[in-house]
Amino acid sequence: MNQIKYYKQDRYETSNTSLKSSGDVLSFINDIRREAHLRKFVEIDGRLVIFGVEGPIILPNGKFWSISAEVKDGLWGKHHIMVSPNLESLINKKQSFLRLDSGCFSGMVLGDITCDCLEQLRKAQSIILEKGGIIIHIPSHDGRGWQEYKMAHQRIMDETKLDTITVAAKFYGSENKIDTRTFNESALILKALGFPKKYSFDLGTRNPKKVKALLKAGFNIAAQSIEIDGISKILEKNLQAKYKFFNNQKKGKVYARN
Ligand SMILES: [Zn+2]
Repeated sequence: MNQIKYYKQDRYETSNTSLKSSGDVLSFINDIRREAHLRKFVEIDGRLVIFGVEGPIILPNGKFWSISAEVKDGLWGKHHIMVSPNLESLINKKQSFLRLDSGCFSGMVLGDITCDCLEQLRKAQSIILEKGGIIIHIPSHDGRGWQEYKMAHQRIMDETKLDTITVAAKFYGSENKIDTRTFNESALILKALGFPKKYSFDLGTRNPKKVKALLKAGFNIAAQSIEIDGISKILEKNLQAKYKFFNNQKKGKVYARN
């Protein structure tokens, strides 16, 4: 394999290479290999956003395009972006669905039923396949940014039967320390993808931290929770606590404009 080369762009541009444009399979493989060793980067607000290698994700109900992005010297490492139908059409539409999706290893990969992280991601994927939109998944946001410490929190939750917010507040010291996640890197990545100021996002959550970070970046926001079907008792307790902590209420839409 070749050495990685860096290539500056004004905003991220999706590759136009296809089997058709390359002409034959061997040329196509060579073209894709060459592209896979290029790291496109965009300079935004004095920071560098470095993009990874793009490709399709194929689900039973459709296909979307995926690309990773990382803010150089950022806190949260790789962000995985899913786009449907494509970046160009979303930017032209001036309004689209957005989900900033925090990673959750215990729920999304191992199947723990005390949270609804996987269901929220699946729902968001269905929404973008149906109506178009973008999801930014941030693996290192696991445990509201606390990552492995979450397992200690899970132990306490399991034995005491207390809800997730009550346990987190006691375990981490106070309610202010429950959530260490920040979303300014997600906002930078959206800018690097070419979403202009005043672009309107229908945000799939009412989490005020996410709303604030996007408003600060100059976007317009309509925020609404994603509704999940078939909620278990144990999850319902945690969701109620979470809604109370993050939003004070479960339903309704919040509009915020710059
Ligand atoms: Zn979870």
